[in-house]
Amino acid sequence: MSVFAYRHGELHAEALPVSRLAAEVGTPFFCYSHAAIASAYDEFATAVKGLPALVCYALKANSNLAVIASLARRGAGADVVSEGELRQALAAGIPPEKIIFSGVGKTAAEMRFALETGIRQLNIESLPELRLLDQVARAVGRKAPVALRVNPDVDARTHAKISTGKAENKFGIELGLIREAYREAAGLAGIEVRGLALHIGSQLTDLEPYRAAFTRLAELTAELRRQGLAVDRLDLGGGIGIAYRGEQPPSIADYVRVVRETVAPLGTELVFEPGRRLVGNAGILVSRVLFVKPGASRDFVIIDAAMNDLLRPALYDAYHAILPVAEPASDAPVKRFDVVGPICESGDRMAEQRPLPPLQPGDLLAICQAGAYSAVMGSGYNTRLPAPEILVHGDAFDIVRARPDYQAILARDHVPGWLEPVPGPQSQAKGARGAAE
Ligand SMILES: *Cc1c(COP(=O)(O)O)cnc(C)c1O
Repeated sequence: MSVFAYRHGELHAEALPVSRLAAEVGTPFFCYSHAAIASAYDEFATAVKGLPALVCYALKANSNLAVIASLARRGAGADVVSEGELRQALAAGIPPEKIIFSGVGKTAAEMRFALETGIRQLNIESLPELRLLDQVARAVGRKAPVALRVNPDVDARTHAKISTGKAENKFGIELGLIREAYREAAGLAGIEVRGLALHIGSQLTDLEPYRAAFTRLAELTAELRRQGLAVDRLDLGGGIGIAYRGEQPPSIADYVRVVRETVAPLGTELVFEPGRRLVGNAGILVSRVLFVKPGASRDFVIIDAAMNDLLRPALYDAYHAILPVAEPASDAPVKRFDVVGPICESGDRMAEQRPLPPLQPGDLLAICQAGAYSAVMGSGYNTRLPAPEILVHGDAFDIVRARPDYQAILARDHVPGWLEPVPGPQSQAKGARGAAE
């Protein structure tokens, strides 16, 4: 059962009416449910029981410190892709030995920080990156614990922009080159190569690509071992999907069954890196209707949330369910609307031709499945204030990221002193004449 459900004719977040939250926080805002985050993590933790496994939450899905801390308290590690995320993981209480650093483009400074922090492992995606890490590690007098990310060349059957495990994607070391790379890594003084990693894509709703990738990983592991190389860790990445629009993603138990059948018999430590699956269903974006604008061919609902708050529809053509916060009568008439934001881009559209009950300015809408890849992709485009984030816990809530004020936005920039003062009306007139002469 969703933690976002109608009760007494009104959408609730756990025990709180969303309209009350909107009145207190102001729209638009992200509303997360602690219960939903906890239960998604617990599903994972239960499914991997008995395996030598660590569940490392992929912070890039939602890096609010309160969200990370909620997962940290339940035992999660972290998968990070930048020094910023590494610092967030530490600040939220995740111990360094549970942190994995992924990503194709780590800088030397990031590597140094990771090594000095003493994280569990860096996942390396190319030979040049491996060689740089070796140098950095020797310079700081440490051995870098490493897994090499292999690109297993399988089709994740997901959106092209979130597929990462095909040969044409930039991620990982090609299958044809990985053995040589592993052997090189094993011989580098600054590197302690521990194993292999993969991550084939995001929002997978089918287990077959996993089975194909994990089978390749198991074969590769056996082959490296036959050559006398130690492989004692396998990092299986993330990517398990959620239902945005009636998809039927696998249970975590079924997903882990594939792991048990493919890579578990090798007896390595296992790492899982779920992101979306832990937090995607745990958030909504609450927005208010500004105007209803009828058109000759289409009717528009203009809301106060936009692509700077939630980029997924513009970036991935993503579908997000939209619920009126006041439950519509079961016999309410339904019309199709384009639900759009105020930004000066035609792509600023949350939904196209979406059936909705009659709406008035001031009505509240909840854009669902906004817990993952939503607030984190927020931007300052059109100088709109970033939406605040709140975390609901039963019948209480906390503002876990406040809406900044305009003062703070203006204070980010500096106008150089050598720029002449803006001319007043008089000197402007003079300037204009001067130019004409
Ligand atoms: C993005 C990413 C994840 C998480 O992906 P989800 O689809 O959110 O589970 C895990 N591992 C790596 C290396 C990633 O880049």
